[in-house]
Amino acid sequence: MKIGVLDLQGAVLEHVRAVESAGAEAVRVKKVDHLAGLDGLIVPGGESTTMGRLMEEYGFLGPLRAMGESGFPIFGTCAGMIMLARDIAGSTQPRLGLMDITVQRNGFGRQRDSFETDLDIPALGNDPFRAVFIRAPYVSAVGPGVVEVLAALGDRIVLCRQGSLLASAFHPELTDDTRLHRYFLSLVSAG
Ligand code: GLN
Repeated sequence: MKIGVLDLQGAVLEHVRAVESAGAEAVRVKKVDHLAGLDGLIVPGGESTTMGRLMEEYGFLGPLRAMGESGFPIFGTCAGMIMLARDIAGSTQPRLGLMDITVQRNGFGRQRDSFETDLDIPALGNDPFRAVFIRAPYVSAVGPGVVEVLAALGDRIVLCRQGSLLASAFHPELTDDTRLHRYFLSLVSAG
């Protein structure tokens, strides 16, 4: 299995390592050409306005949107989650807009800019998942019947799936737990 990691900006190398330790080949994607032959793509964390601008500039938005619409698996983490969202509260910034979700950028507020917590993610088994949040967004609304909520902190959704599109508000590449990357690989092989 070949998984691309979008390499325009943000936390790329950690995802490459996580994909490899989850048992797949990782490819750094810097140009649209690099999407050919991939089985799935990770859109990393970073700064979503910068990433959106670069994706526009390098011509990624149209092709990737078309691929996502026809079932190509994409996993967006943090800023990557924002790129996948259809609605970004209070913003018209460029996005893929593939998932029927509304995100709130920097949704945990200044006092909780960065934090770690043990998340309950039933889809990954009984052991809690250590989740690192860095100026993280959260999902405030999902399209009913389309989006499956996989984890939440109170009423803030932090992990959800729509078909083979997966979005996490936190950074699963920053710990040694590869279960979420493996979960994404299972979506890739199921599709
Ligand atoms: N706060 C960033 C944004 O809004 C996301 C932060 C991250 O990816 N760690 O784009």
